[in-house]
Amino acid sequence: MTEPAEITDSLLRLKQETIACSRCELSKTRKNVVFGEGNPNADIFLIAEAPGHTEDLAGRPFVGASGQLLDKILAACGFTRQQHVFLSNVVKCRPPGNRTPSLQEAGLCIPWLYRQMELIDPQIVILLGATALRYMAGPAYKITRDHGKWFYCNRRLTMAVYHPSALLRNPGLKRDTWTDFKNVVLKYRELSDPDHVCQYV
Ligand code: SF4
Repeated sequence: MTEPAEITDSLLRLKQETIACSRCELSKTRKNVVFGEGNPNADIFLIAEAPGHTEDLAGRPFVGASGQLLDKILAACGFTRQQHVFLSNVVKCRPPGNRTPSLQEAGLCIPWLYRQMELIDPQIVILLGATALRYMAGPAYKITRDHGKWFYCNRRLTMAVYHPSALLRNPGLKRDTWTDFKNVVLKYRELSDPDHVCQYV
């Protein structure tokens, strides 16, 4: 069994490798590689599309308005970034103008994500938004139809939910998203911590 300290050391080494990456053209326009953050032993791994402008400047995932909303959702579930989750993206550098990363960029970058997932070894993977769902699970999946459903992706239990930025653009999606996250809480209790406290579930 791998000790927590070994995981942290391995993850730090992986971070050093990743931030030196120049496999794709996004390395020429980024300010920072956004490796991801959270608990190296987290049982929940949240994966979004790519860093935005604020994340590129800060070098951290989910620090803008959608990050604040994500933190509120996590807090309502009784989760924190520090203890329960690890957050990262399919693509680790910001695409100019916040365009959707190309299939080629995702293909070049995704091995970094797979190595993160191997080290962290989460019980539950949450894909945030349509692009993360498409690049991780394949083009047959649709966020409007498949959000909130459990399925196996790369042999890991996975659920897709709407990206927080979609909720900011369309608050009507919040109700469905809260239903989905309540199911994440139930699954977390089942797989990781039966005593997990969430005042709403
Ligand atoms: S997006 Fe990924 S593959 Fe491209 S330079 Fe950044 S870390 Fe490397």
